[in-house]
Amino acid sequence: MGLRVAVVGSGPAGFYAAGQLLSADPPFEVDLFERLPTPWGLVRLGVAPDHPNIKVVSRVFEKIAARPGFRFFGNVEVGRHVAHDELAALYDAVIYAFGAEADRRMGIPGEDLPGSWPATAFVAWYNGHPDYQALDFDLSCERAVVVGNGNVAIDVARMLALTEPELATTDATDRAIEAIVGSGIREILVLGRRGPVQAAFTNPELVELTELAGADLLVDPADLELDPASERACEGDAMAERNLAVLRDVAAEARTRKRRSIRLRFLTSPVAILGHDRVEAVEVARNRLEETPEGRLVAVSSAERETIPCGIVLRSVGYTGTPLPGLPFDEARGVIPNAGGRVLGTDGRPLPGVYCAGWIKRGPTGVIGTNKKDAAETTGLVLADAAAGTLGPRSQRDVTELLASRGARIVDYRGWEAIDEAERARGEPQSRPRVKLCSWDELLETAST
Ligand code: FAD
Ligand code: NAP
Repeated sequence: MGLRVAVVGSGPAGFYAAGQLLSADPPFEVDLFERLPTPWGLVRLGVAPDHPNIKVVSRVFEKIAARPGFRFFGNVEVGRHVAHDELAALYDAVIYAFGAEADRRMGIPGEDLPGSWPATAFVAWYNGHPDYQALDFDLSCERAVVVGNGNVAIDVARMLALTEPELATTDATDRAIEAIVGSGIREILVLGRRGPVQAAFTNPELVELTELAGADLLVDPADLELDPASERACEGDAMAERNLAVLRDVAAEARTRKRRSIRLRFLTSPVAILGHDRVEAVEVARNRLEETPEGRLVAVSSAERETIPCGIVLRSVGYTGTPLPGLPFDEARGVIPNAGGRVLGTDGRPLPGVYCAGWIKRGPTGVIGTNKKDAAETTGLVLADAAAGTLGPRSQRDVTELLASRGARIVDYRGWEAIDEAERARGEPQSRPRVKLCSWDELLETAST
């Protein structure tokens, strides 16, 4: 009898782990559990709709799903329909790859005022995540503020700036396209708490901001003057050097010809979000950089303050993981405590047969491909433990019996394919890759056709 593994979460980490186990010698059987009726995690519901080439990685996942020994259990939430200890009893090993879906908090006054949103919600909304479709983003204001200097902040700023022709061929939801195209926003202000050298965004994403049809990129040359420590940090850091070169070109041009602008400001942090019933402004502090004893440059707020009127704030300061009942959790880091992917119990020792991969293992950083190597580290340990005979034993019951007894309405891979076909068919006449089904009812109905 072959070994059977449960993988929880069907994003890149879950799919790569599944693929590696299905092609092991001898192959494992893999059951992939996903709380949504649709697979692919952030490849479907995070990656920006105007980046269709990135989503092509889903073809790799389709090939993995076609391998013998693979089963998909969509619309099954581990921790709700089935508990960790139940999975552990039914499988030789369990790999948790359920991502990091919550938003990191900034901890400033006014953070929860209406109109102040985590970027996590905005991204999920424009991408058609069924849990986020009831949200109402008021884009009628003239200035939006995006906090953070990562690639998600750049995605959010760019999405707000796209024109109808740029959006019309994407798989963003119709509602999001309508809201963005019809929005009153003239300026999208992106605030980085540190300097341009410390920005986390990558060069192609920055360059893309210089090529938008309907928005100019603006940077104040004074914001690009480096302190000596940043000068040193920049030398030999190819990404920082390239970013700085682009930013200096942009600053030298200083154009405002298009309908909208994206303005990047550095060394600036919101210290409060202001407003009576909703966001009316952000109060920002000017920062300077200080070197820690470990050599890291951190932002330290000065006494200099400024109030910037705005109508919406999108806080893009990172994602964070949330605990799953019955599993250990490192609250400070927002990850499952682990050693290379072996989940560690409260005594610091590995829990036999329990593993993790992806963002819930290492935290919310890294591109899609990073999860392949990360999953390989984890599945390497599964293989080693299988060879050492430390996996199992498992019960002979099949999980479907248990799920049926819980009333779970499973969306199997065929069900997902029905959704996929329906979405592609809706997209085709409009030259769009797909028009997503984005309500739970539509998704579940279509899956059962
Ligand atoms: P996820 O992709 O988040 O997958 C986790 C899955 O687990 C989800 O499907 C979720 O529904 C499911 N799940 C959660 N809880 C449960 C549960 N209890 N039971 C069952 N299932 C559960 N990388 C790039 O290379 N290019 C890009 O353009 C790019 N754009 C990005 C844009 C955004 C907005 C974000 C946030 C990230 C982007 N990334 C990009 C990074 C990339 O998406 C991540 O590295 C990758 O998705 C992380 O994979 P994961 O499998 O760990 O998590
Ligand atoms: P990220 O890269 O970690 O960036 C988070 C940003 O938030 C950093 O600039 C950070 O600044 C800032 N920040 C954190 N706390 C803050 C605070 N309290 N106040 C102000 N700023 C604060 O995270 P991300 O943008 O969420 O992206 C997650 C991962 O997905 C990244 O690895 C990213 O590359 C990847 N991704 C890739 C693409 C792509 O390839 N196109 C697109 C989207 C996402 P400090 O540096 O000062 O901490």
